[in-house]
Amino acid sequence: MLTTAEALDAVLAATPAAPTETISATSATDRVLHQRVVAERDQPPFDRVMMDGIAIAAADFDGGQRSFKIQSMQAAGDKVLTLKPGHCIEIMTGAVLPQNADSIVPVERLTILNGEAEIEANYEVVKDRFIHPRGSDCGKGAHLLQPGKKISPLDIAIIASAGLTEVDVAADPVMRVISTGNELVPAGEPIEPHQVRMSNGPAIVSLMASHGFQKAEHDHIVDDVDILRERLQQHLEQASVLILSGGVSMGKADYVPAVLAELGVEAMFHRISQRPGKPMWFGKGPNGQLVFALPGNPVSALVCCRQYVIPSLQRSSGLIASPPEFASLAARIVFEPKLTCFQPVKLISSAGGQVLAMPVRTNTSGDFAALSATDGYVELALEQSTFETGTPVILHRWIAR
Ligand code: AMP
Ligand code: MG
Repeated sequence: MLTTAEALDAVLAATPAAPTETISATSATDRVLHQRVVAERDQPPFDRVMMDGIAIAAADFDGGQRSFKIQSMQAAGDKVLTLKPGHCIEIMTGAVLPQNADSIVPVERLTILNGEAEIEANYEVVKDRFIHPRGSDCGKGAHLLQPGKKISPLDIAIIASAGLTEVDVAADPVMRVISTGNELVPAGEPIEPHQVRMSNGPAIVSLMASHGFQKAEHDHIVDDVDILRERLQQHLEQASVLILSGGVSMGKADYVPAVLAELGVEAMFHRISQRPGKPMWFGKGPNGQLVFALPGNPVSALVCCRQYVIPSLQRSSGLIASPPEFASLAARIVFEPKLTCFQPVKLISSAGGQVLAMPVRTNTSGDFAALSATDGYVELALEQSTFETGTPVILHRWIAR
């Protein structure tokens, strides 16, 4: 049986790099960049005025002048004017600094009457103040975003400022999320007492989407070898990633590993020394398709999905990996089995500035209602069984930041 680290290594080693596709910049949020974004121009592209007021020459003020004849007005978007000696130009935030001007006096410091602007007594004009100099944020050609960056709403502004309408990103993998089990009935359909609502499929599709992977279609397959074989064959032809839940344990209706083997999917591992999620199976299809067969128990399925499937998709996309995140245990945990424990937690921000992880008991691996209150889970090392309050542990958030 593999350790959690060995299982993750095996998954990542089998993961191919995603191809590049070009998409509209407006729909690029949460996608992973496959290009560099450089500054189209100096930023700001001109000496930019930061206050509404007047633009003057500091030399006039230093020479004792306090009242300035208004030459004209210049707003944001207006062509640059040239200031005449002894005059001022009424100026608006975002405008280009007029030629020959080097100082801004805010409107709050002025009295404007009969075409003259008079500066308040005792107000000291400071040269260059309220002017955002050309190129002071970055120069033309500066590297603003690097390949491997996940595009945030803030990056959308950078992409637009660089003048790009399209960007190269990692292609979104075509995925199938497959729920197996005779007992499963989808929401919206009548249900019998012996049946179970199908919840893993929609949850896994949603978890994928929350990480920026949108192309996950869901299918339900009953526990029948022939139907499983036929439908999995189709999915292997149509998708590059299959995420199954259920049918990988030791039960008599757990046909998934055998059927996948028949279809030429090479088993990379079956079972990981962890709880929940020990029965997980992983294999590689004849065309390099990745096949994740997760246990059916909802807590196990979601933990395995977050722990192995998401990192694989991220690696494939070229996403630059973030360093591990840590939290301090907010309560003592005793976990005896010789397994890595993935303990769901709720995060609390302490007054001391620490992130505390409060364990949330899930009754069994089937108790997914309790998960709603959790932000993620912590990883408790296999070699240890007692974890005191305050122990720093690795934190995995359901939704990676
Ligand atoms: P299995 O791994 O197929 O033995 O399933 C383990 C448990 O998880 C059983 O109680 C199943 O009914 C339940 N289960 C399996 N798949 C799903 C699903 N898609 N949604 C909710 N529960 C499921
Ligand atoms: Mg089953």
